[in-house]
Amino acid sequence: MTTETFEFQVEARQLLQLMIHSVYSNKDVFLRELVSNASDALDKLRLEKLRDDSLDADVSDLHIEIDVDKEARTLTVRDNGIGMSYDEVGQLIGTIAKSGTATLLKELKEAKDAAGAEGLIGQFGVGFYSGFMVADEVTLVTRRAGESQGTRWTSRGEATYSLETVEDAPQGTAVTLHLKPADPENQLHDYTSPWKIREIVKRYSDFITWPIRMVPEAADGEDAPEPETLNSMKALWARSRDEVSDDEYHELYKHISHDWREPLETIRLQAEGTFEYQALLFVPSHAPHDLFTRDFRRGVQLYVKRVFIMDDCEALLPPYLRFVKGVVDAQDLSLNVSREILQQDRHIRMMQRRLTKKALSTVKEFMAKDADRYATFWREFGTVLKEGLVTDSENRDAILAVASFATTHADDEPTTLARYVERMKDGQEDIYYITGESRQSIENSPHMEAFRDKGIEVLLLTDAVDEVWVDAVGEYEGKKLRSVAKGEIDLDAKGEEQADGEREKQAEEYAGLLGWMRERLDEDIKEVRLSTRLTVSPACVVSDAHDLTPALENMYRAMGQEVPRTKRILELNPGHPLVKGLNQAYREREDRTELAESAELLHTLAVLAEGGQPKDPATFVRLVADRLERTV
Ligand code: ADP
Repeated sequence: MTTETFEFQVEARQLLQLMIHSVYSNKDVFLRELVSNASDALDKLRLEKLRDDSLDADVSDLHIEIDVDKEARTLTVRDNGIGMSYDEVGQLIGTIAKSGTATLLKELKEAKDAAGAEGLIGQFGVGFYSGFMVADEVTLVTRRAGESQGTRWTSRGEATYSLETVEDAPQGTAVTLHLKPADPENQLHDYTSPWKIREIVKRYSDFITWPIRMVPEAADGEDAPEPETLNSMKALWARSRDEVSDDEYHELYKHISHDWREPLETIRLQAEGTFEYQALLFVPSHAPHDLFTRDFRRGVQLYVKRVFIMDDCEALLPPYLRFVKGVVDAQDLSLNVSREILQQDRHIRMMQRRLTKKALSTVKEFMAKDADRYATFWREFGTVLKEGLVTDSENRDAILAVASFATTHADDEPTTLARYVERMKDGQEDIYYITGESRQSIENSPHMEAFRDKGIEVLLLTDAVDEVWVDAVGEYEGKKLRSVAKGEIDLDAKGEEQADGEREKQAEEYAGLLGWMRERLDEDIKEVRLSTRLTVSPACVVSDAHDLTPALENMYRAMGQEVPRTKRILELNPGHPLVKGLNQAYREREDRTELAESAELLHTLAVLAEGGQPKDPATFVRLVADRLERTV
C-alpha cells in the first residue's frame, strides 16, 4: 500500500501551529470537538440512510466510543457514522474552508497577549485541529458508508500529512490522539484517566443524542468490563427549563455554533396544538466574521421528532435574524422534507413568524433589564437587524422599538427613537438624522451647522443599510424621519416676521447670482438657493426630499444597477463673506471668467465637505493652486 504525503494548506498549517503551541488554556475542549464531529457524522448517516434505503450501511447501533490506552498513551474517539472518502479526507481535514480564516489568522498575529489570542480561537472554534493541543500525533482512520475501502490520515501537525488506503477499516471514523508526555505536575489533565473522560463528556457533551460509550480498561486477569454510557442523551429542547442548567444550554450552543464562547441569550419556545414544535435558540455574544458575506451559513438546525434533518435551515428565521443559532424540533413534518418544501409550507411560515416575534420580544425584555447586555447585542447585531426594517414590514415597529442610534445628544450614548422623541424641542415636529460613511465626517458636515447652533438633536447613521431603511420606514409615531441633507430646512420659529422680511430682501439681492450660477453648474446642479442651514460654511449641497442620496446611488451602481445621475441643489450661506464677495463681484464685473471658476470651486468645496469626491480632481487642484499662488 503506498502512502502519499501532502502539504497542509497555508492557513491550516498556521492554525495547527497555534494549536500545538496551544494558547488555549482550557484544553479539555478538544474532546468536545471530536465528539461533536462524531455526532454530526452519525446524524448525517442516519439521514442519508433515510433518504436512500439502498445505502450499504449499518445503522442498527449508531454510537460514539471513547477508548483510552494508558500504556500507549492514546485516546481514540470512534464513531460508526458517515465517514469520509479518500478525497474528502484530503479536502476536509487538509484545508480550512471556513471563510474568515485569513482574517482570524491576521488578528491572531496581531493579538498581543495570550488572552486576546484565546478569545479569537474561541470565536473561530477550530474543531478537529484542537486535538493537537494535547497530542503530538493524530491518526484518523475512516471509511465512508457504502464504500469498501478506508483511508488512514496521519500527521504530527507540522507541514505535512500522509494519506493511505486501508482495506479493513470499519464504517465511520476513528480519531486516535497520541497524547503528549504526561505532565507529573499536572495530574488534572491526564486524558488517559477514565474519570477525567467521564467528567469532560458529562460537562460538555451530555446532551448529544447518540450514546457516548467508554470501555474502562480491564483489571489484570479480569474479563473486559461492559461499556458504560457516559451521557444522558436527553434533548435539551424537550426538557423543561428547571431541569436544565445554563451551562448545559451553553454547551449545546457551542456544539451547534462552533463558537467556543458563551451565548448572550437563550430563547426557549414550546408550541403545543395542531403543529407542535420546540425551539431552543441562542443569540451569540459576538458577530461572526462572515456575517455579511454571501455564503454565510445560518445556524438553525431542523430536527423532526428528535431526528436531525438539516443544518442551516433558512426557512425558520428571516435573513435579518441569520445570526441566531439553535435547534427547532417539529413533530409533524415528514423526515424527508426538503428545503424547497419547507420554503412553501404553511406551518413553517407560521413557525417563522412566531420565532421571529419571540426573538424580537426577547431582545426587548433584556433591553429593559440589562443595559450592558443590550449594548453588546446592538453593537454586534444592530446592523443586521436594521435590514429587517426594510424587509419585514410586519415587525417593523418591534424592530424600531429595540433599535438604537448614535446621536449628537450630549451624553453620547446611543439613543432609541422613543428617547429622542421625549427630548424633542418645543415646536420640533420631525426626527432629524444624517447619513454618511463615518461619524466624524457627518458630525462635521456643513448640513449640521444650524442644528448644532440651535441645539437640535440629530441621529448619526453610518451603516450602509441606514440609507435605505430611513426611506422605507418614513416616520416613527407620527413624526417624520428627515435627513438634514435633504429638502429645505427651516428651523426658525414659524411666522417670525423679521426673519421673513430679511429673507425676502436677500432673495432679491442674490437673484442674479443664483440664476447665473445655476446655468454655470447645470451639469451637476438643478437649483442654487440661499441656505437656512448654514452658519459657518459658505456652501453645501443637498438633495431634494425624494432624491436618491449620493451614497445610495453609489450602492446601486456597485450592485450593477443603472441609475441616472441625480442633480443636487447647491445652497449658499448669505452670511458668509465669500458668498457676499461673490455677489458683489457678480454685480460689478463685466468679465466673469474668474467668477465662473470661483463658482466651480465653491461647488467642489461643498461636495468635499460632505465627504464626496470632486468630479475632476485635477482641474480642482489646478484652480486652487492658482488661487493660492496669488495669495502667498
Ligand atoms: P467543523 O467541524 O467546524 O466543520 P472540523 O475541522 O472539526 O471543522 O472538521 C472538518 C470537517 O471534517 C467536518 O465538517 C466534517 O465534514 C469532517 N469530519 C470531521 N470529523 C468527522 C467524523 N468523525 N466523521 C465524518 N466527517 C468528519
